[in-house]
Amino acid sequence: MTTNTEKIFSFIDAYAESTEVLYLEATIDICQKWLSGESQPAVSETVTKEDIRRGIQLAVLKGMKQNVQPNHQMTPDSIGMLIGHIAGKLAIGEQGITLLDPAAGTGNLLYTVMNTIENDVTATAIEIDDLLVRLSAVTAELLEHPVTFYVQDALRPLFVDPVDITISDLPVGFYPDDENALNYELMPAEGHAYAHHLFIEQSMKHTKPGGHGVFIIPANLFESDQSPTLHPYLKKQTNIRAIIQLPDSLFKNVAHAKSILILQKPLPEAKVTHDVLLAKVPNMTDKHAMALFLQKIDIWATE
Ligand code: SAM
Repeated sequence: MTTNTEKIFSFIDAYAESTEVLYLEATIDICQKWLSGESQPAVSETVTKEDIRRGIQLAVLKGMKQNVQPNHQMTPDSIGMLIGHIAGKLAIGEQGITLLDPAAGTGNLLYTVMNTIENDVTATAIEIDDLLVRLSAVTAELLEHPVTFYVQDALRPLFVDPVDITISDLPVGFYPDDENALNYELMPAEGHAYAHHLFIEQSMKHTKPGGHGVFIIPANLFESDQSPTLHPYLKKQTNIRAIIQLPDSLFKNVAHAKSILILQKPLPEAKVTHDVLLAKVPNMTDKHAMALFLQKIDIWATE
């Protein structure tokens, strides 16, 4: 039997393959036709937001193969689901949760998280690439998620009120705009700043006191040549709550392995020292080991 996800992918794919325009542009076109009711995938009544997200995601993955841009890679579902689980636990019992993704890309990570948080949730998405913003905006409308978009360099001033949870699959590498980087504590004394460092600082600036930042970071973040600048910033401005190592098997090249860093913005009255959860995600195909790992995360989040 064909699933709703497959039906949505086939609907988008048939259209995109039949036009002359870029596959991703065609994906936006057909999703707009779907929104307006001009054309619809033959999904069953039980179609869920996750079916829609996954169907569009399959098309985006195919479209991204056509014009490969290494720095625009969509966050894989294996990592997105884990971040969704963690954010869902941090949001438990709260109403009207606000989210920020300052490097939202296709929105795939953001919507995985929004689909997981069961309470009311609104989000702000920042992304520098106009095509990706149009793609994620039409996806948000199909998912009926309230998201405000800004097409801009997220390291420039943001007109965004502080949020409860900031999530981001950080763009990694040097940030070329030294003049703007001078506005950050994490600008090193010499050379260019690391964009991923500045993204952490900007994200925490836009997170409420007591709120959390959940970041996908390079696994070697704390061993880089600029970590001597990063350590004092994190110590002074944040509480490190967890560092979770992702399995090497998720990455083609071990040098590009990632971890998850969870920071909490301290409340103004007190900077409490907490234990830091240091954990390693097991092989994700091992269901028993994964269940035990998620249990550990749940206990940590409750505490
Ligand atoms: N989570 C996203 C998803 O699921 O599609 C993927 C994020 S991707 C790893 C990082 C994104 O950051 C890219 O889409 C890139 O265009 C964006 N980016 C890089 N530098 C930026 C900047 N200075 N301001 C805003 N966005 C930026």
